[in-house]
Amino acid sequence: MTIKGKTMETKRLTHSSMTCAKTCLRKYYFRYVLGVVRQREETPRRVGTLFHLGLELGRVPDRPDYPAWCVDDEDQYKMDCDWAIAAGMVDAYLKYWEDDAAETVHAELEFDVPVANPETGGVTRKFRAAGKIDKIIVADGRKMIMEHKTTSDSLEPDGTYWRRLMMDQQISHYINGARSLGLGIENTVAYDVTRRPGQRAKSVPILDGDGIKIIEDENGERVMKKNGDPRQSGGEGMTLKARPETPNELRARIREAMLADPEQYFCRREIPRVEADLEEYAHELWQQQKLLTACHNAGYWFRNTSACVMFRSPCDYFEICYQGLAVENGVPEGYEFKRPHSELTEGGKK
Ligand code: SF4
Repeated sequence: MTIKGKTMETKRLTHSSMTCAKTCLRKYYFRYVLGVVRQREETPRRVGTLFHLGLELGRVPDRPDYPAWCVDDEDQYKMDCDWAIAAGMVDAYLKYWEDDAAETVHAELEFDVPVANPETGGVTRKFRAAGKIDKIIVADGRKMIMEHKTTSDSLEPDGTYWRRLMMDQQISHYINGARSLGLGIENTVAYDVTRRPGQRAKSVPILDGDGIKIIEDENGERVMKKNGDPRQSGGEGMTLKARPETPNELRARIREAMLADPEQYFCRREIPRVEADLEEYAHELWQQQKLLTACHNAGYWFRNTSACVMFRSPCDYFEICYQGLAVENGVPEGYEFKRPHSELTEGGKK
């Protein structure tokens, strides 16, 4: 793939690419101009990704194959547990919403629409607004976008999660896209949010033939009380004989926990947009394309070093960025080239 070809692929403004540009223009250059990604981005182990796939399929997705980096039993167990958490979430979601009356009229709907100057109505040829909408639904006779999301945040009605959405550009971006396609939707998005459970795989006590826990001493011998009964609590130098929880046990535990307290895990709310919100979004879209066009023309993408470490994780491009490596024609080990906006159809849907 030539650099020139990859550069042409960047001329789409998606929610992800605009968020990336806001975070750091140098990061945008690596990801959306050059198409450089870390190889591990390909791995399908993420809980949120698997959960989303399950909602698309309407069933628990198959366990993904182990990627090349997954070399030992420990790695494979972690991957299996991630799948189990996602599977338990899908199980619980499908059970909780089994009586949902909303009708899906479009799924995984792509849009690729012009970007217009809100002052003059003139359309730029340099960028188009693009994205993929999870669903268009009809609920209670009203047609609207539905987006499925997962979060680790609280779903309390007045919590930050919902208040932030009132300002979220993605909602306006999708409403603008769906309206440009002439779908006759309401100016609202039904947010279908599932909170990721905090449970992780745990140790499970191994029981003897009578269903009693086994406490062992430093030599691996079972500890008995003076009366000859098996000891049931630990002490100095003693350990509870245990095994790792199996993925299927973890899946069942996640399902049970979510269905036992569904208000903590499932919530749907409509996030509306008035015309003033959409107008503000149109200005933002226009400003973004002007800024990115200026960067393309200058061939310079300035850094935001405040974004190099977020949530204690270094930026994916940290290694190549701080060393100032030239990656236009080749990438170091651990990176590869990937078509920007690979989640969308190549060339776009008009
Ligand atoms: S390492 Fe920092 S400056 Fe470099 S691309 Fe990432 S966020 Fe931007």
